[in-house]
Amino acid sequence: MSGITGEPTLLVLKVGGSVLTDKYSTGGTDYAAIDDFAARIADLHAEQPGRIVLVTGGGPLCHPVGMRIKADRADAYAAVALTEPAFAMRWAWTTRLRAHGVRAVPLQVSAMYTERPDGTVVQTEAVERLLRAGALPVLSSDFVVTAGGTLRIFSSDEVPALFTAERFRPLRVVALSDVPGILTGGGDVLPEVDPHRLDEIRGLLWNKPGNATGAMDGKVAALAALARDGVECVIARGERTRPMRHLLAPMSEWPPATPRTLIAVGAHR
Ligand code: ATP
Repeated sequence: MSGITGEPTLLVLKVGGSVLTDKYSTGGTDYAAIDDFAARIADLHAEQPGRIVLVTGGGPLCHPVGMRIKADRADAYAAVALTEPAFAMRWAWTTRLRAHGVRAVPLQVSAMYTERPDGTVVQTEAVERLLRAGALPVLSSDFVVTAGGTLRIFSSDEVPALFTAERFRPLRVVALSDVPGILTGGGDVLPEVDPHRLDEIRGLLWNKPGNATGAMDGKVAALAALARDGVECVIARGERTRPMRHLLAPMSEWPPATPRTLIAVGAHR
């Protein structure tokens, strides 16, 4: 099946921490930027209520905690420490979205996702009810319970995988970051990626020391897994003053000069 869709039923919009601040520095979260993005999301939501799930990236609040959790190999429950900074991010977005008239509701992924020896259980009923009521669920990275009953970090790039059930399809995932897509060097953006041929682009991806979740590498791996399953995935630059209305339109109707990397089955023909 082609991953290229017209209008998606659901848009999972991930706003990366890097669009809010330099997460590798000690700089704080840019709440004015959150407010600007919230205004753009509010415009989109006002036109198409009940079709957006927001996933907030961790940024400088979550990253140091994520690094400490990864370093602490002795404590299989260390990931519980993500609760506070991840909630702070969800709450920051929730309050600003509400200020723009959106019925935003923060939810905890750890209560919706459990790994079991016989498979993963995903429970999205709260999200579905909120969407039906025209509200906007706000999710983020979190810890999740593993098959062994311990905890692991669940990155914000993994969260869209909660919505692959048929009732959410056609599903579009848009990851906004501080880059306009996958850069090929020299400033060019790779327009399309075949999710079955990631080996061809791996050499383009770099990681920075201090990134808890693998930067672009982790993002591309998570999005490509979704794309192989028929989800339309896009990486684009998050610009706080740019309208977002096109994000729920067929991609053929996006503003022509919009740089982005589309990861989808059938994209690379
Ligand atoms: P978070 O996941 O913390 O919310 P984010 O989604 O905004 O943050 P990152 O996960 O840091 O962003 O991924 C974007 C980063 O990936 C870029 O800032 C860049 O440093 C890095 N990167 C590595 N390889 C590439 C590439 N080929 N093209 C573009 N960016 C790349």
